Amino acid sequence: MKYDVIVVGGGASGMFASILCAKAGKKVLVLEHKNQLGKKLLATGNGKCNYTNMHMETACFYSANEAFVAEALGQFSSRDTVEYMKNMGIYPKEKNGYVYPFSEQASAVQQVLEMEMKKWQVEVVYTHVKKIEKKEMFCVKTDQAAFCGKQVILATGGKSNEKLGADGSGYALAKQMGHRIIKPVPALIGLHCEGDWFASMAGVRMQASVGICIEDKTHIAAQETGELQLTAYGISGIPVFQVSRVAARTLAEHKKVYALIDYMPAFTQDALLTELQARFMREGQTAQEVLVGLLPMKCIPVFLGISGIKANKLATKVNPQQVQQLLGNLKKKWLVITDTNGFAQAQVTAGGVDLEEVEGATMESKLVEGLYFIGEILDVDGICGGYNLQWCWTTAFIAGEAISKKK
Ligand SMILES: Cc1cc2nc3c(=O)[nH]c(=O)nc-3n(C[C@H](O)[C@H](O)[C@H](O)COP(=O)(O)OP(=O)(O)OC[C@H]3O[C@@H](n4cnc5c(N)ncnc54)[C@H](O)[C@@H]3O)c2cc1C
Repeated sequence: MKYDVIVVGGGASGMFASILCAKAGKKVLVLEHKNQLGKKLLATGNGKCNYTNMHMETACFYSANEAFVAEALGQFSSRDTVEYMKNMGIYPKEKNGYVYPFSEQASAVQQVLEMEMKKWQVEVVYTHVKKIEKKEMFCVKTDQAAFCGKQVILATGGKSNEKLGADGSGYALAKQMGHRIIKPVPALIGLHCEGDWFASMAGVRMQASVGICIEDKTHIAAQETGELQLTAYGISGIPVFQVSRVAARTLAEHKKVYALIDYMPAFTQDALLTELQARFMREGQTAQEVLVGLLPMKCIPVFLGISGIKANKLATKVNPQQVQQLLGNLKKKWLVITDTNGFAQAQVTAGGVDLEEVEGATMESKLVEGLYFIGEILDVDGICGGYNLQWCWTTAFIAGEAISKKK
């Protein structure tokens, strides 16, 4: 069978691109190795699918080529996504810029994309793509058969959360076609920390500020404030996800990575000192007791312990230097980051197909005519908040438009 366009990967970007190409009259085939289209899409936004963000800036994306990202977003940004989704039936619900389907169901987004694919007669074969060769046409070899296409779109995603489909095999396909891959690392992920004191605080959530420092603790390379989650292995939650990419990339370069945590960002250093001093002057209460109502219960013995204060000591007997130490541990605690929580848990992959070898205006390979890259397989990753899916819609639109104009 010969196709105008073969899309490898039926995730967010592949589904959207297939619709755009089919609408332009192309005969389109999607090859997907899971038994369902858009499996990852179903898991997005905690099942609600945060499909874009109205505050769309290039600063919300990491890449080696900011101009590439800016050019792409200039062609199809969040407003275009909302409009397109609306036309397909997804009425938007916006919360502080974060956009979800009105039904708050990721399955709605997956379903309208699938319905649109059916409407425009996109063919789907559930099979694993092993190899791509190019002669006059592309020959895409799968577990079942070989398929011929004039154009191929690689939309295989990265290698995060393999159980949802993307297993890194797209990188091997890109390499076969001569493309360079920037080393993939997990991003939007929890971070493992040195020390055994996290286990007893596991499950605690608190507002905190998280900074990432590289090598010498002098420069904060990334910082975010939000709801920190303490886990048995270290730290997680949105503020950690937002800075995790910098930590992961640095760890991959075998450099030292530290996190600087402010567990009490609502207090200035002076205000917290005043509060602690007042509490430690309470007569007849232990150190543990005076902190009740200020810190989560599970954290009190841990913070007292690392500050050298016995929990059952009378508060008035605790010396001022130890109170200063407690203040330091609450406001400026250095943690050594030893690892990330790994690709299996990561929401996204940083790294991928080198942008230097891709045309920003079309997403076409500069090395192989007719080969396109879209979505997470590219060396671009966004922060949390709908940016990674926007990258999928944007790049799928650009490739779809470019292919639509081809004979
Ligand atoms: C739990 C979770 C929650 C998330 N929440 C959000 C969110 O709310 N908002 C947001 O913007 N982003 C979110 N993301 C990130 C976002 O889902 C991804 O960036 C996006 O889905 C990537 O789309 P893609 O089309 O590039 O790749 P994918 O969605 O990964 O699709 C790639 C497809 O290709 C298939 N495939 C791969 N290799 C082959 C092969 N060799 N042969 C055949 N098929 C192949 C895979 O099975 C898969 O279906 C979340 C991610 C996760 C894991």
